[in-house]
Amino acid sequence: MPKYVYGFAEGSRDMKDLLGGKGANLAEMVGLGLPVPPGFTITTEACRSYLQRGAEPPELAEQVQAHLADLEKAMGKRLGHPTDPLLVSVRSGARFSMPGMMETVLNVGLTDRSVAGLARAAADERFAWDSYRRLVQMFGRTVLGIDGALFDEALERAKAERHTTNDLDLDAADLRAVVDAFKAIVRAESGREFPQDPREQLTLAVRAVFDSWNAPRAVSYRRQERIPGGLGTAVNVVAMVFGNLGPDSGTGVAFTRDPATGRPGVYGDYLANAQGEDVVAGVRNTRPLTELEQLDRASYRRLLEIMRILERHYRDLCDIEFTIERGTLWILQTRVGKRTAAAAFVVACQLVDEGLIDLDEALRRVSGDQLGQLMFPRFDAEAPKRLLTVGMNASPGAATGVVVFDSAAAVTRARSGQGVILVRRETNPDDLDGMIAAKGVLTSRGGRTSHAAVVARGMGRTCVCGAEELVVDERARRLLAPGGVEVAEGEVLSIDGSTGEVFLGEVPVVDSPVVEYFQGSIDPAGPQADELVRAVHRLIGHADARRRLQVRANADTGQDAERARRFGAQGIGLCRSEHLFLGERRELVERLVLAETDADRAAALAEMLPVQRAEVIELFRAMDGLPVTIRLLDPPLHEFLPDLTELAVRVGIAEERGEVADRDVALLAAVRRLHESNPMFGLRGVRLGIVLPGLFGMQVRAIAQAAAHVRADGVEVRAEIMVPLVGAVQELQAAVDEATAVLAEEGRAAGVPLDALIGTMIELPRAALTAGTIAEAAQFFSFGTNDLTQTTWGFSRDDVEGSFFATYLECGVFAVSPFESLDAEGVGRLIRIAVAEGRRTRADLKLGVCGEHGGDPASVHFFHQAGLDYVSCSPFRIPIARLEAGRAAVLERLESSR
Ligand code: ADP
Ligand code: MG
Ligand code: MG
Repeated sequence: MPKYVYGFAEGSRDMKDLLGGKGANLAEMVGLGLPVPPGFTITTEACRSYLQRGAEPPELAEQVQAHLADLEKAMGKRLGHPTDPLLVSVRSGARFSMPGMMETVLNVGLTDRSVAGLARAAADERFAWDSYRRLVQMFGRTVLGIDGALFDEALERAKAERHTTNDLDLDAADLRAVVDAFKAIVRAESGREFPQDPREQLTLAVRAVFDSWNAPRAVSYRRQERIPGGLGTAVNVVAMVFGNLGPDSGTGVAFTRDPATGRPGVYGDYLANAQGEDVVAGVRNTRPLTELEQLDRASYRRLLEIMRILERHYRDLCDIEFTIERGTLWILQTRVGKRTAAAAFVVACQLVDEGLIDLDEALRRVSGDQLGQLMFPRFDAEAPKRLLTVGMNASPGAATGVVVFDSAAAVTRARSGQGVILVRRETNPDDLDGMIAAKGVLTSRGGRTSHAAVVARGMGRTCVCGAEELVVDERARRLLAPGGVEVAEGEVLSIDGSTGEVFLGEVPVVDSPVVEYFQGSIDPAGPQADELVRAVHRLIGHADARRRLQVRANADTGQDAERARRFGAQGIGLCRSEHLFLGERRELVERLVLAETDADRAAALAEMLPVQRAEVIELFRAMDGLPVTIRLLDPPLHEFLPDLTELAVRVGIAEERGEVADRDVALLAAVRRLHESNPMFGLRGVRLGIVLPGLFGMQVRAIAQAAAHVRADGVEVRAEIMVPLVGAVQELQAAVDEATAVLAEEGRAAGVPLDALIGTMIELPRAALTAGTIAEAAQFFSFGTNDLTQTTWGFSRDDVEGSFFATYLECGVFAVSPFESLDAEGVGRLIRIAVAEGRRTRADLKLGVCGEHGGDPASVHFFHQAGLDYVSCSPFRIPIARLEAGRAAVLERLESSR
């Protein structure tokens, strides 16, 4: 027979799958001998069975009965007994914490008869009726599904009659009347009496907790947090202890360290003469926990002692729910507490210093996402602020700007130089231009996978979404915020995408000290370095010591390269040469395309060469001693040519006037010829090199000459020449032959050979699938995961991200955009094939990745496991990649030691 119920003494923290987080930790605390009220846990398995069958498993009632009997014996009371009743709470608690998403009912067991018994036993009439009204209220809302506002309103009326806003001013008689009013609401709304059988109350409450697993808000929360929907919740039945027994009773929450900064100290809130839910519901203002010392020194001391015990036991920051009943302290919940990114780094290092964890463990407890959050510019903490509301932190950063309500206004105002916050109820593909123009995006609806959130993250725009307290009136161009605040178009808002906070007016932005540290302007050992900077320094140092992956930068200019080097880049994994020939210098390429004779072509190339050479010289200097990978020209040729329509119009007008230039006619013909309806699949990459003889050769020559030039100054050059968009070894071989010949020629001219590596990008499925053959011609592979993702999925990134991706994410085609985080299953499989077959051909084949995935935490772990030599990412993400590469190595150690 399956065991569906566990007494607290039977469980432990390792049993979270079965007992849920709350139940497992309650059991763990019982094991530690802490003062936890007795109780038992109904397993998640029972919940799953209930949800599948639509009814409790048949064995459940009997097992609950047996544990209830044990509980009654331990307490010396009977559930809901008329003279001295045992009361219990019925509490949800899933494997993963889902704060506020599911239900809990307190004071189960109170009835018209037992309320009198409770009053007598506690010698407190008011307390008994206060507890009863709470039960009818919670039970009515949670179990019977009655609109909670009805109860709230009735309670407000009772307070108004007493001319008070404080529930403590209601006496026993008032509360008794409130209970009557509540029971009348139950009768009217549910068509039944409030149940007077304690056992029935218990059964119904357990069922309601099971059902709350599938409440709409819980379902959408899980989708956002990527918690599997099939886990179910456990139910904890716990003997009630009472914080509402007078001024020497109360309830509170506490953290073992400050969850915002990580600093040790006493953090929490306390509310005298109250029950647990009052603290979160905000019925009265809580007091800082430190004030408890004056109210009840013994309980305060005991609480601090228990917090120390829990921290040492869990070896981490914990949060705690507690209740004091007439001077006796009870612990009702604990768990490893949520914390900010800054606190995560600081606490991890403190725990190392306290000897509780080692550096490997500390590194496992922080993440690249957290480090990324710490690197965004932030609002000045000291500056005065006026908080309007808090929404969801969808895309980090701190943005201030004038409010606009549509895309067109965003574009216009941004053009005139204003910073803009685009405010929408929710965004759709039509808002794309506005989102691009804006510094930040704020929506009142939609979660972290909504269109606004997905697109903003993809573009690196700050975004707060789902700020439900805001009423956005797009027509009237204004928004209404709590407290009757109205914000019209043109007024200024500041949004914090890392916290979800929305502020009225401008808040000054400051650079992150973590970035200043990475840039070398804060010395981690100096007085300027705060605890956070020291912690980041220590953990990134440990990551560097542990990681197997090298980290390089994608950098196009000498300046980028210098910055990347300060951020810890161990080379350049991708320098795109095309930026040199767009813009003003586009004409050079135009001439190459229009060249009719070999001499014309040579002349055009001869003009391009010094441009290319000058840039490479800068790169070599900046990266002295480190590898520099230069990619030969990649974009579709037409990108270097004028727009077809514009040119056609110009030529048309000129023709009418009879003054058309021959060059323009030839150019128009060329543009027509090169026009592509799918440029992504068109004339680009290695295809350019083959169609325009001499182009790649010129670039290689520039690289060779640049090398010879800087070597004369003592710079150590490690050049890597990379051929893009290869699908067949024949394409690569043609480029390699040309490059090898040029290198030899230039080597002879300089008197020293330049032994550059020549390799290829792997960014087409065909290249991955024929990697064994391609490796015969390549000394290195660099996975271009952006194009490889596009070509594997058949998505054109520019077209799909703003259109149907949000829908795909919402309906679960993928949990995260494959452009943000590598699709390990599909694209990753191609990479694994290419790694294995490439290395089989050439054991010393160097393997890297240069797509944007190189700076994405989950993808870095994949590349580590796939056995690559390096990842390359944008300079700003280098610290993130370093940290995650270290974490990947540490996690691997842990796995293999198990
Ligand atoms: P949540 O998961 O929303 O925090 P809980 O199950 O922890 O819900 O309970 C809600 C509140 O009721 C908490 O403040 C908790 O401490 C309090 N509470 C729960 N069980 C008891 C109990 N047996 N005695 C006193 N207070 C309780
Ligand atoms: Mg709780
Ligand atoms: Mg590419």
